[in-house]
Amino acid sequence: MTETQKACNPGPATHDHRRCIATALREAEDLCRARAVNLTATRRRVLELVWQGHEPVKAYQIINNFRAGHQATKPPTVYRALDFLMENGLVHRIESLNAFVGCTRPENRHQADFFICTACHRVDEIDSGKIAATFEKLARQQNFTISHKTVEVYGLCRACHEKTGEQFHA
Ligand SMILES: [Zn+2]
Ligand SMILES: [Zn+2]
Ligand SMILES: [Zn+2]
Repeated sequence: MTETQKACNPGPATHDHRRCIATALREAEDLCRARAVNLTATRRRVLELVWQGHEPVKAYQIINNFRAGHQATKPPTVYRALDFLMENGLVHRIESLNAFVGCTRPENRHQADFFICTACHRVDEIDSGKIAATFEKLARQQNFTISHKTVEVYGLCRACHEKTGEQFHA
């Protein structure tokens, strides 16, 4: 298995992804408690499965992994859990991939835009404020009313960029 095929892009050598998962679950529990919404066992498990790495996961993968944990579930149950997680900003959908990623800053509601690495599939959220302002200005100039937008930019993350650099210099 090559580095880029690993389920989770390890990033820096110090990266312990179990901590990412633990942090995401703890934040979700705190947020749901504060908002008086119910993070049921199913919703929590689906969030955990979305957070299996920093790359987007498809709904069918979540369903399969849910069942691999020896828990019976029907696809609509998982879809409803995903809807709940998206409504609460805990998960985002990558439209161009029809896949889901966990949000790293769910405490502030935001429109999510993404940098997507084509080598390891890692997804990083872009600070959307400036992008939104630019689109609003362009829309005003062209008499267009935006109802919805999502920006998904493909390229190489830092780790993969450095890796390709190493290959070139080898
Ligand atoms: Zn991680
Ligand atoms: Zn987010
Ligand atoms: Zn990468």
